[in-house]
Amino acid sequence: MAFHAINPVDGSTILTLDNWEASRLSKAMDVAELAAGPWADTPIKKRCALMHKAAEVLRARQEELATIITQEMGKLIKESRGEIEKCAWVCEYYAEHGPGFLEDEHIETDAAKSLVAYQPLGIILAVMPWNFPFWQVFRFAAPALVAGNTGLLKHASNVPQCAQAIESVFKEAGFPVGVFTTLMIGSVQVRGVIDDPRVKAVTLTGSEPAGKSVAEAAGANIKKSVLELGGSDAFIVLDDADLELAVKQGVTSRYMNGGQSCIAAKRFIVVDAIADAFLEKFKAAVEDLRTGDPMSVDTTLAPMARHDLRDELHKQVIESIEAGAKVITGCAPEAGSGAYYQASIIDHVKPGMRAWHEELFGPVAIVIRAKNEDDAVSIANRNDFGLGGSVWTQSNARGERVARQLKCGAAFVNGLVKSDPRMPFGGIKRSGYGRELSHHGIREFVNAKTIWIK
Ligand code: NDP
Repeated sequence: MAFHAINPVDGSTILTLDNWEASRLSKAMDVAELAAGPWADTPIKKRCALMHKAAEVLRARQEELATIITQEMGKLIKESRGEIEKCAWVCEYYAEHGPGFLEDEHIETDAAKSLVAYQPLGIILAVMPWNFPFWQVFRFAAPALVAGNTGLLKHASNVPQCAQAIESVFKEAGFPVGVFTTLMIGSVQVRGVIDDPRVKAVTLTGSEPAGKSVAEAAGANIKKSVLELGGSDAFIVLDDADLELAVKQGVTSRYMNGGQSCIAAKRFIVVDAIADAFLEKFKAAVEDLRTGDPMSVDTTLAPMARHDLRDELHKQVIESIEAGAKVITGCAPEAGSGAYYQASIIDHVKPGMRAWHEELFGPVAIVIRAKNEDDAVSIANRNDFGLGGSVWTQSNARGERVARQLKCGAAFVNGLVKSDPRMPFGGIKRSGYGRELSHHGIREFVNAKTIWIK
């Protein structure tokens, strides 16, 4: 059995599915290969019309799809609805802007005519995680399909219904068979798919070990790869910050989605002058969060997606406390059969502690005290990850100065780090490489071909 959908609310089994045998996989690859050529030759206007239709299907099925997300990985139903709406947005965005991003780029040279033409690569494999089980996939699929590529999805094994529902959205929208295919395979079968000469490139969102394995396979085959891995985003609160705003946004950023977002604020780096005042307000707001049924609108903190992830998070927290970090609130699993973890804060996190070096993928904020702005920037950058970061100050000029110094793929001033189809998204350092979204994203999986005519 490769796919187990376990309801994180109570540990009950929703569904188990055998993973595909080699013959079933091979058949799906044949179908994708047959679809690739005609799809690449389909006029982009037609591809965009189908992507518009996918947005309509998503909106029409919003409640059904949001419910599947919540049942399989525990996200609050309100957030699940928002995720489906965001997927519709990215489909529309690329349907509207994709053709412009892929227009021939004329460049003056010694030729009579010289240009760059953006042409599809062919079949692209996407290995995707469970934390935003629709959004992560659509963020890849919308630009890739508009560009004329075909997509294969290997989704996380705890969200099989999401995996199948995504394929059904494209089917219902009228995409030809084989243009987007969900492969019901386990991670051990991924290497074989990457090795297959019909697959031209691969993208992965997930953990570092998974990223390394996929990048190694892609490298061995000299195939393009994009990696969106973890993050440990700094949330820098300077002495002139609007503390009410910083607290409100900090709580949202850290605790939404059960704390399981790569771009969540994870390290609250707070300057000494306001550290105690910030922490007092932050603690009060965090203690207001309420765990419960994610289908209920009264619940404000979701369970974690899996019990094993919750237990691993607790180990990271306990070992950090044993190494000297101070508990401000929470720091224990909740009693019962659900994968719940208390909304937690640990203070005085220092080098050498797991919480300092590792990503905490759950509802635990870590607080690090800094002497001043320079010290805060230096602490923020002393980290192996480089996905996002934010700075909180009432001076935009000061905020921009800090934002420019942060070593990461996205730096926000007085706003929580978020993805937006209009802006590039991705990391540096151990957060991965390549960009998704905006014109940068759609150009990752195309051949930027030079055409030179004397
Ligand atoms: P994984 O990275 O293991 O899973 C993500 C995807 O990669 C899944 O589809 C998974 O398949 C697949 N995968 C895992 N290992 C391999 C491999 N060796 N080769 C090919 N594909 C592979 O994440 P986990 O679910 O185990 O979560 C662990 C940690 O990863 C989290 O605590 C968090 O730190 C990080 N993470 C980061 C995310 C992000 O948004 N950047 C999202 C999710 C997790 P399968 O499910 O079948 O194993």
